[in-house]
Amino acid sequence: MKTEKDCAAFFEMISDWTDGDLPASVKEELRKHLDQCSFCSRYAESLTALKKCLAGGCVDCSDAAAAVDECVRKFLSEK
Ligand SMILES: [Zn+2]
Repeated sequence: MKTEKDCAAFFEMISDWTDGDLPASVKEELRKHLDQCSFCSRYAESLTALKKCLAGGCVDCSDAAAAVDECVRKFLSEK
């Protein structure tokens, strides 16, 4: 059973994941967690959107950045 404190580790994983820098076994573990944890999956979604935005040469990613920010802030406030 995963407990909430595991989310801290997954947060870092998600960041590595969006950089495309994650071994398959870890990716699988992360994917399983995202299935169960709406909070982390929202963070992953937001971060993916932001990275995609930046990679596409977007000059106004404020919406995506705000979503990521909100997730991080919520995460920190629940500690
Ligand atoms: Zn989580």
